[in-house]
Amino acid sequence: MKNKVFLKNVLTLVLVFSSLLVFGQAKPNVVILATGGTIAGAGTSATGSEYVSGQVKIEAMIDAVPNIRDLANLKGEQLSNVGSQDMSVAIWLDLANRINTLLAGDDVDGIVITHGTDTQEETAYFLNLTVKSDKPVVLTGSMRPSTALSAEGPLNLYNAVAVAASPLSKGYGVMVAMNDEIHSAKDVRKMITTPVQTFQSPQEGMLGTVIFGQVEYFHKPLGRHTTNSEFSIEGITELPRVDIVYACADMSPDLIDMMVKAGAKGIVIAGVGDGNMNAGTLEAAKKAADNGIWVVRASRVPIGKVLIKGEVNDKEYGTLCSDELNPQKARVLLMLAMLKKRNWDEMQRLFIDY
Ligand code: GLU
Repeated sequence: MKNKVFLKNVLTLVLVFSSLLVFGQAKPNVVILATGGTIAGAGTSATGSEYVSGQVKIEAMIDAVPNIRDLANLKGEQLSNVGSQDMSVAIWLDLANRINTLLAGDDVDGIVITHGTDTQEETAYFLNLTVKSDKPVVLTGSMRPSTALSAEGPLNLYNAVAVAASPLSKGYGVMVAMNDEIHSAKDVRKMITTPVQTFQSPQEGMLGTVIFGQVEYFHKPLGRHTTNSEFSIEGITELPRVDIVYACADMSPDLIDMMVKAGAKGIVIAGVGDGNMNAGTLEAAKKAADNGIWVVRASRVPIGKVLIKGEVNDKEYGTLCSDELNPQKARVLLMLAMLKKRNWDEMQRLFIDY
């Protein structure tokens, strides 16, 4: 009798393994962390533009996507349910810590994050610097709410899970998968206010494509990230206040002083052109830097680098240049960089390396 049971067990194992060989590998395990956004948004009309972000819960979102469970064993967790204009440092820290815990285990192969598109690039970049794993972490969202005609959220979620589940995706850092394209956290920008082709990497190009779940990469992202990042949020409960000021013709120089008075420890200037600002503002920036405030020159121009020695010599003024980071990503980097005491050269190096 015992022998019969033993034989039956052996036969079952042989059957399971041979079916894995015939039908492919066991499915990867992917966790979807939901934070809200238009992908979870709902409106009263399928053709109207009015809606409210963050209404649909993650279980309902997964159930709305046909065949998604064929790609991976899925588990959903609701971390927040906000429009991403309300994304916060507190949610970023929660997200990064949760991802680090999940990915440290052998039972999770990849993470998908559903997120509003307004600040998705900032969250992606924050995670690119603070996640300590080479397993795929993929953000997605949608421009049309779940109730809209031709809502693109379900296919975006399907494709994001395909990217997170793909063995090809290891080591690419944090990515954004939307509208059939895969972008690196560092390069991606929200370029257009409302159409579905909003996410682009205008200078560096997309990393690859994901078309009905078929993943293909064209190149690897440059710059340090994830397992190669020197930043850590272990034990961190808040980040220093860093504000952004938008430059323009005849800009008011007292804005910098006002930010410092209000408690900013760092300031990013979305400068004109090559990170420029008028003479009064440059003087105010120098004064702030002399008083221990980190001031970064970025640009309001959507594409291109800010040069260390253009019209402003940063070392002379005590300012930093953002290199390729747009103002919102320069702010993320500065907040993390300020967690450790660093001199000007060390600070500037970070903007070049990451
Ligand atoms: N404000 C919304 C958000 O970021 C709109 C953008 C979206 O999700 O598409 O959550």
